[in-house]
Order: sequence, then C-alpha cells, then structure tokens
Amino acid sequence: MKAIIIDINFATFLEALATTGEWIPVLWYALWLAMERMIAEDFAGLYACFHAPIANVDCGQRCAPYNEGDAPFCCDTRHAVPAAYLVEWEYLEQHTDLWHVWEGKTPELTEQLRAQAPDGQVLIECKGYSLCQRDFRSLTCRAFPFFPYITRQGQFVGLSCYWEYEQCCWVINNLQVVSPLYVEQFVQAFDWLFTRMPDELTLFQHFSRRMRRVFGRRHRLIPLFHRDGRFYKISPRDGRLRRSAPEKYPKSGVYKIAASLPFPDELDQGGPETAGAS
Ligand code: SF4
Ligand code: SF4
Repeated sequence: MKAIIIDINFATFLEALATTGEWIPVLWYALWLAMERMIAEDFAGLYACFHAPIANVDCGQRCAPYNEGDAPFCCDTRHAVPAAYLVEWEYLEQHTDLWHVWEGKTPELTEQLRAQAPDGQVLIECKGYSLCQRDFRSLTCRAFPFFPYITRQGQFVGLSCYWEYEQCCWVINNLQVVSPLYVEQFVQAFDWLFTRMPDELTLFQHFSRRMRRVFGRRHRLIPLFHRDGRFYKISPRDGRLRRSAPEKYPKSGVYKIAASLPFPDELDQGGPETAGAS
C-alpha cells in the first residue's frame, strides 16, 4: 500500500521546509493536494486487497426472499444506508457511475440520517442490487455485516457483527459460512485504515463499548472472529475470551424457523442441520 510512501515523502518534505521557508505556502498546498490524491487513489489498492467474498454462497440470495422487494437487506437503503469516507467518495465518483449521494424520502429523514453520519463521511446509495459493480463496492459494503471490534484497552482484535441486523441478515445467523480469507482481508483492510485514519479506531471503540453495554444488559456473549483466525465469545462484563464455534451463535427471527428448513446445498456445507445449530 502507498501509506508508507506518503509518510516517507512527508518526512522528506519536512526536512526540505527547514531550509526553504519562503516556499512553505506553495509547497504545503502542493503536498496537501498530493496527499489528498494519494489517499483517494489508495482506495483502489484497499479495494483490491479486500475483495474476498464472505462465504462461498451468495448470501444475498439467502436473505433477499425475506425482504419486501426481494433485494438483500444490506443493499436496500430502507434498511441500511452505506456511508463512504470523503476520500473514498472522491475515488468512487471519479471511477464509476454506480453511486450517488443518498437522499431520503423526505427532507426531514435526509437531515436526520445525515446528522447521524460520522464526520468525514457521506451517505451514498447505489443503483441497486441487480446493477452492482463488485469492484466498486464501498468499504461498508465489503465489511457488512461486520465491524472492527475494539477492546477496552483500544486494541483491534477482530470482527464482530452489527447486532441490530441479526433479525434480517442471513450471514449473522450462519457465521459458520464466513471464510478465513475474508476475515484475514478484513483485518488487513482495517489495520491499513486505522494507520491512515486513527480517529476511525476511536469511533469503532465507542461502537464496541456500546455493544458491550447492550450485550451486558441482555446477558449475552459477544461473537468474535479473532485476528488469530479463531472464533471466540467475549464476556461483555470483563472482556474474557472463550473459544467457541461460529455455528453455536444463536439464531434470530425468521432464521430460527428456517434453520429447520435449510436450502439443499447447506446440507453439504455443514449448514444449520448438519452443524447442529440451535
Ligand atoms: S451480508 Fe447479510 S444482509 Fe447482506 S446480503 Fe449477505 S445475508 Fe443479506
Ligand atoms: S454496491 Fe453492491 S453490495 Fe453495495 S449496496 Fe450496492 S448492490 Fe449492495
């Protein structure tokens, strides 16, 4: 990735500033432009390194039948509105016509959701599931339904799920299908992002804390695909990790019922019945 190159250039630049003070404004502006461009273009590299599918089945086909309109839940802005970093949005705007800035059904709704979006991000919407361009999926598309889980001590230890979607997301209800390569690429992608944008780690640290609070109240254990390649359950109270198996993660909503009626190919993949999930 180019992150290191930028930093080396930055150090060289600072050295040069010490001897050419009069050129500071011009050089600084030039450097700022270069860094902005580098970061936007780096999203091409990030996307290329984070492309593995979550599973070897098209999970969209598994959840879409349960959504009105037959679109996967995470590709339907009635359920999830993707956010892109401003530099990422710059990259997408330059390279594809897949996306546009999201507008809600009413100005009030638009305003409300925009106000909730983190600083430095823009809410976007694609042309729809049938027109998806896989190479230009946003980082949020690639990461969903997972987010980087950050411990109380501020360590990015692995992936946990956006639990608000456990009623509708098939993957959250079938964690045994998640591929090790996907987990590995997810970790690498967010390691890269946190190096470039350290504030993002703080944001996910807040989100992880919120998950601990919610799961603590519900007396539930937090699922974690650890960066060491294993699956754990975390105690929200003391952060203790316990080895577990992803198929043991409890099912919710329609998937609880559907677990007794698996798709035929699931029987060959250690799906719900063969895996003995509840
Ligand atoms: S990640 Fe979840 S919500 Fe998105 S397509 Fe797959 S199963 Fe559906
Ligand atoms: S770009 Fe593809 S994966 Fe992302 S929301 Fe649109 S259809 Fe879904």
